[in-house]
Amino acid sequence: MTGDQTARIFMLTGRFPARDRTKRDPAMSTGSHEHTRMLKTLLGNLDGMVYRCRNDANWTMEFVSDGCRRLTGYHPDDLLLNNRVSYETLTHPDDRKRIRDAVQDAIAQRRRFDIEYRMIRADGEIRWVWERGTGIVDADGKATAVEGIIQDITDRREAVHALREAERRYHSLFHNAVEGIFRTTPEGHYLDANPALARIYGFDSPEEMTDSLKDIRNQLYVDSARREEFVRQIKERGSVTAFEAQVYRKGGDIIWISENARAVFDDDGNILLYEGTVEDITERKLYQARIEQQANYDTLTGLANRSLLNDRLQQAILSAERHGTEVAVAFVDLDRFKFVNDSLGHHFGDRLLKMMSERLRGCVRECDTVARLGGDEFVLLIADDSGHIIVKQIMERVLSAVAEPWVIEEGEFNVTCSIGIAMYPSDGRDAEVLLKNADSAMYRAKEGGGGGFSFFTNDLNVQMTQRLEMESRLRRALERQQFLLHYQPRVDLVSGRIIGTEALIRWRVPEQGMIPPGSFIPLAEETGLIVPIGRWVLVTACAQNKAWQDAGLPPIVVSVNVSARQFRHDNLVETVASVLAQTGLDGRYLEIELTESMVMHDAAKLAAMLVELKKLGVQISVDDFGTGYSSLSYLKRFPVDRLKVDRSFVQDIASDHDDATIVRTIIALGHNLSLKVVAEGVETEEQVNFLRQNHCDEMQGYYFGKPMPAEEFGNLFASTGE
Ligand code: C2E
Ligand code: MG
Ligand code: MG
Repeated sequence: MTGDQTARIFMLTGRFPARDRTKRDPAMSTGSHEHTRMLKTLLGNLDGMVYRCRNDANWTMEFVSDGCRRLTGYHPDDLLLNNRVSYETLTHPDDRKRIRDAVQDAIAQRRRFDIEYRMIRADGEIRWVWERGTGIVDADGKATAVEGIIQDITDRREAVHALREAERRYHSLFHNAVEGIFRTTPEGHYLDANPALARIYGFDSPEEMTDSLKDIRNQLYVDSARREEFVRQIKERGSVTAFEAQVYRKGGDIIWISENARAVFDDDGNILLYEGTVEDITERKLYQARIEQQANYDTLTGLANRSLLNDRLQQAILSAERHGTEVAVAFVDLDRFKFVNDSLGHHFGDRLLKMMSERLRGCVRECDTVARLGGDEFVLLIADDSGHIIVKQIMERVLSAVAEPWVIEEGEFNVTCSIGIAMYPSDGRDAEVLLKNADSAMYRAKEGGGGGFSFFTNDLNVQMTQRLEMESRLRRALERQQFLLHYQPRVDLVSGRIIGTEALIRWRVPEQGMIPPGSFIPLAEETGLIVPIGRWVLVTACAQNKAWQDAGLPPIVVSVNVSARQFRHDNLVETVASVLAQTGLDGRYLEIELTESMVMHDAAKLAAMLVELKKLGVQISVDDFGTGYSSLSYLKRFPVDRLKVDRSFVQDIASDHDDATIVRTIIALGHNLSLKVVAEGVETEEQVNFLRQNHCDEMQGYYFGKPMPAEEFGNLFASTGE
């Protein structure tokens, strides 16, 4: 293009200075019309400003295209010939020297220049522009002008900047994340991993990790089936979330991880790679396990607790229903556990429970459940098509496992258990009923003397109902005045005189007659009713004794039996003191009968209470002596007055050599401790003779008198007392 042609184009699409316009050669407009129109369109559509300026200190503009206004905010006339503002002042002061150097350099080397710099728009806004141009050389070879184009690149620069920033941030995230980040091939090779992932898997660096982990499925996953599941889910849904698995760390330790990952596809929809994040959730898993353990397992024995048993039982029932099979629920209760607990203390009780748990576990298969409901109550859940025969065999195994001697520092003990079994579906269709029925079957096994098992039968329901009925009747017996006391004489073996009497409770129930204490005292103890009943016995016995004295009979001691529970839950000392005050009986005419198990349990507290009772003048005896585990050395520490040798030893003293020896020994040891010894349940003359020969002090039994109503006792006493 010649200089003239160029000038012509400028004239048509942009602005020359006004004075130049006057110099316009009319001939110029006669150029190719089509050509001109095309250039006009091009320049008009051009993003930016085309210019021609002088190569001077102001970059004095000689021509600017219409883009001027958008680029600079100035009207072309403002800029042309520095009318209002020079281009130099439009450029940012900090960039001016750089611009000039670049332009002059290019001119000197006769090449194009390409620069980016800041421009200050008419509104004061600073924009980034890009300029490309060339020096225009005159006939003398001097560059007098510059021509080129300037475009606003602020947006582009910002985009590039934003992109770079995004990259930088991503990079920093990738490197500094606490979560592991990875990209792998679908075959399980690492393409990329961040330092956190390497750390989680126990490697020093991502490189070390990607070098040594070549087969994720087999090297990393503890269970390779989990990896297969991961791949399956990704293929199916395109991603996995919170996918938990156990993996090996570098050293072989096993940890729990949770993964979020997705598949990246190529244009044809084939999986290119997997990318995702990994979190080490070992801590959380441990915590969850601990919580679950607490919620579902018994802390003492580690066996399933009631709630887990219920879940398992419900599942077993569902599955049995589906398959038409049976489920056995066996209620196991240790015989006389309370006694062990009371006499040896809770510490040994706990040890016994733990050991029994182990034994029970050993009797069933892994898939069966052994649960502890609390106390000494265990439940076995045997959930397959077992049938009575198999269940019986298992129960026999349980009985003999439990009966193995229990050897501890204190000696060797034989513990037995009673088992009640209920079967699904014949004995109940839901968990609650099955457990209840197994429980009542267990009660029947207990009634059989313990150490056995019994299957639930329907008549047990009747028994259970009776027990509940009895409880509710017992609750009302006091207010209905259905209790009474019988008195059994206690006789001095030397003089043959009545020196005391034992008050024994009876329950008179309309239409049922007299119920012996053995049939309701255990229930009263279990329900706590023994506390008010025991108070009633004390008041009645003391009042009666005082009445006999007031009637002029010689004073004797009345003995009252107390249960362990009364010692624990009633302030017995206070009760006794107030009863003595209320009835006016002198404390020395009252005797409290303890059982051996109470002596062994919580000895310090008991000793303190006994000392208080002694201060009231009350006498203390140990009842049923010889049946418990107490040692005489214990007795030394208690202010006890009497030992009552249990009837079971007295029964056969005349015929059984062992029993005779036991009784003789008890008498001798009792005397050594300055205690009086009473023989219980004396029925025959031979027994009386034996006891006399062996210097037993006192006796009680049918031989001299059965327990009898107060009036009868008063008469007997009056007739023999003289
Ligand atoms: P225990 O204190 O050992 O009372 C002696 C038991 O032996 C009484 O049974 C008595 O009737 C019975 N007995 C006495 N002599 C003979 C005999 O020669 N032959 C036979 N075969 N038996 C004889 P009972 O009255 O049935 O009382 C049973 C147990 O109930 C008592 O044993 C005592 O432990 C408890 N008991 C009785 N009354 C009370 C009470 O008011 N409170 C508490 N907590 N327990 C009581
Ligand atoms: Mg007694
Ligand atoms: Mg007794």
